Amino acid sequence: MIIAIIEHDRGTLHNASLEMLTVARALAADRDTSLAALLIGESGREIVKTLGAYGVPVAYLAVDDSLEDYAPRAWAESALAVMDQENVEVVLAAGTDRGHEVLAHVASLADLPLAANCLEVKLDDERCRVTRQRWGGSLLEEAELRGETYLLSIAPHLIPAEETPLDGEVEIREFQPSFSDRAFRVQVTGREQDEKAGISLTDARVVIGGGRGVGGAEGFTALEELADLLDGAVGGSRVATNNGWRPHKDQIGQTGNRIAPDLYIACGISGAIQHMVGCQGAKNILAINTDPQAPIMEKADYVVVGDLHEVVPAIVDEVKQRKR
Ligand code: FAD
Repeated sequence: MIIAIIEHDRGTLHNASLEMLTVARALAADRDTSLAALLIGESGREIVKTLGAYGVPVAYLAVDDSLEDYAPRAWAESALAVMDQENVEVVLAAGTDRGHEVLAHVASLADLPLAANCLEVKLDDERCRVTRQRWGGSLLEEAELRGETYLLSIAPHLIPAEETPLDGEVEIREFQPSFSDRAFRVQVTGREQDEKAGISLTDARVVIGGGRGVGGAEGFTALEELADLLDGAVGGSRVATNNGWRPHKDQIGQTGNRIAPDLYIACGISGAIQHMVGCQGAKNILAINTDPQAPIMEKADYVVVGDLHEVVPAIVDEVKQRKR
């Protein structure tokens, strides 16, 4: 059996899990074995129908009052409960922070091999060969795993989520895991509402990024205005977040968010590799930079050589004109 751990936040599905299902379905077909999803918490029940649209015939649903919110080790122990019952060849999760955290717990509890951020997986009776991203996606590694069960996360934003509707209903296999006394040592205990919650960076179709060239927190006002006009979100380079011009949650790059918008407008950003790995999923990049030799100018689809303090307001005016 191939098990796909489906990431959701109190019933809101993470799109990277649907991308992961493309790999999970292919693996199950290739190995001529069954595919099942694992949903954790009662709120996961809302997602079952969607899984049917993505060709998942069986969903294990772990239910317990304590599973209302995310708790990494409890999620791992829920996965282990299914693995104890079934002959599981591979456990897959999305290559997200939570996906990695849960798989790392499973790997350490069950002493199993784990490969993160895979793009390709080939499995036979002896071994599992993967191509996976290393160094934030700046290099690809061919790796080979040996073990009874393989734990793999699938790099997000690279493999399309393909709908493959099931004939019939998804079978729900509900169970109540028994947890160790460590299962809830780490858990979500509260949430703070983002005062400016809007479109998230990772979901936005347009992202406006600002770097050192923006010059300060106040310089982001024009970028915010452009983002509002284009229904987009604002992010920044590490210089912008380190200087406190933007909160860390807005950082794009290796140690920040991976974005995959239709359009990324990078303003006053040089294009360091650690930044570019965060925006390599963008379909189009427009770079605005005073330096025609900046590395980003070679990587961008469109460039404007100029001062962003003039160029961004000019784009804002133009968009406003066209919206009239
Ligand atoms: P700079 O490299 O200083 O570039 C500023 C650019 O703005 C220049 O190209 C300049 O020509 C241009 N400019 C200046 N004034 C203007 C103007 N008025 N109009 C237009 N253009 C102008 N970085 C990230 O972004 N994200 C990460 O997640 C990240 N992770 C890292 C992890 C590690 C382990 C390390 C070592 C580094 C990481 N970095 C990350 C830092 C990265 O290496 C770069 O230092 C950083 O991305 C540079 O930010 P920047 O482009 O804003 O600044």
